[in-house]
Amino acid sequence: MAKTNNEIPYKIYLEESELPKQWYNLRADMKKKPAPLLNPGTGKPMTLDELSVVFCRELAKQELDNDTKFIDIPEEIYQFYKMYRPAPLVRAYFLERALGTPAKIYYKFEGNNTSGSHKLNSAIAQAYYAKKQGLKGVTTETGAGQWGTALSMACAFLNMDCQVYMVKVSYEQKPFRREVMRTYGAKVTPSPSNTTNVGRKILEEFPGTGGSLGCAISEAVEAAVSQEGYRYVLGSVLNQVLLHQSVIGLEAKAALDKYGVKPDIIIGCAGGGSNLGGLIAPFMGEKLRGEADYRIIAVEPASCPSFTRGTYAYDFCDTGAVCPLAKMYTLGSTFMPSPNHAGGLRYHGMSSTLSELYDQGMMEARSVEQTSVFAAAEQFARVEGILPAPESSHAIRVAIDEALKCKETGEEKTILFGLTGTGYFDMVAYEKYNNGEMSDYIPTDEDIAKSLAKLPKVPGEN
Ligand SMILES: *Cc1c(COP(=O)(O)O)cnc(C)c1O
Repeated sequence: MAKTNNEIPYKIYLEESELPKQWYNLRADMKKKPAPLLNPGTGKPMTLDELSVVFCRELAKQELDNDTKFIDIPEEIYQFYKMYRPAPLVRAYFLERALGTPAKIYYKFEGNNTSGSHKLNSAIAQAYYAKKQGLKGVTTETGAGQWGTALSMACAFLNMDCQVYMVKVSYEQKPFRREVMRTYGAKVTPSPSNTTNVGRKILEEFPGTGGSLGCAISEAVEAAVSQEGYRYVLGSVLNQVLLHQSVIGLEAKAALDKYGVKPDIIIGCAGGGSNLGGLIAPFMGEKLRGEADYRIIAVEPASCPSFTRGTYAYDFCDTGAVCPLAKMYTLGSTFMPSPNHAGGLRYHGMSSTLSELYDQGMMEARSVEQTSVFAAAEQFARVEGILPAPESSHAIRVAIDEALKCKETGEEKTILFGLTGTGYFDMVAYEKYNNGEMSDYIPTDEDIAKSLAKLPKVPGEN
């Protein structure tokens, strides 16, 4: 029996003992599975052995496992989770009041750790499996810096070496992020750099470039495969990352179930899809099994609209084309969002799992413009207190829009959204917004067609 309004606390905390002991693998409940990663050389699905060259073996196994529904969270990871989990589920009473909406709004807050985002949930898992395999360290890329920070924290905890290729514009614009990583012992290199072949090649072709995520990925992969005892790790997009992030949704569902609350609409921002995939996992599982129905909305920036304007096709995951091919909603690996785009979520593609679910019509997607995102961020900050990350604020925008629709129709819908992190390192973007200097940019159809024209040719596919 659902509780009445004032019986539900502002914050619903789970007990430490209620922290999930297993991750939930959404793919196990999908009848049509996400398309496999392909070897760009042979065009055949990547085998465990091939994947194990780049990723550590246990993670490669998780990447390929479409069938095991629940996977035990190893004890060491579980102990680490306890430092900052369970994360609170908040009933946004103050936001509801400010909006004058009959809708009931809940958000799952993942910013309660130093890295300031949900990325730590997967970082500790990936560092752990690398350590268990006896490796010396891991390499990765970071854009805005949250993933690099999370991985640095995880590696420090496990005494592993951590090498981060940071997109050069961010390296220069976010010196504090960089120093947090170095404080946790990571080695941070601005990308493109002259420390890798692919970096040197990109620098030659585009001297003075500020870099991109796709390019930093290529450098990090090269660094991993050319050093003994290193593997590459990635903070989003991959199946294994969505698996680790399922802890978000499992906790959110457990907290809602305590009070008999069932969301009507679940909203999350989508860059590579990991927080959204994690948040929706148990709910989507019910939907796939025909046990319940939910409206699920992915929110992306209008300046990098993979779901809403991209194509479902095999594409490269990185600019240097060293990674396996993934079938996903993509804008093309050569797509570069406009430099005026401030709010993160700038990856050209989207998780294969979410892409397949979107293609099956199991979820919706919406794109929003950045000035409206920052307007929502400020509205939220002023009543709920938390200074949200620009990425998270995409979800806030649509949660507010849906709550305002309820105000018009008088419907008392229950809305759940993912508040993925805090925005303390994004004050340059907030400053622009506050000064009225932020503008919106929407790529033209020609811009998108240009990068889509460079999709790889895959026999039997694109
Ligand atoms: C990285 C990040 C995102 C986007 O990544 P997903 O993989 O799409 O979840 C969203 N919010 C924050 C705070 C992030 O750091």
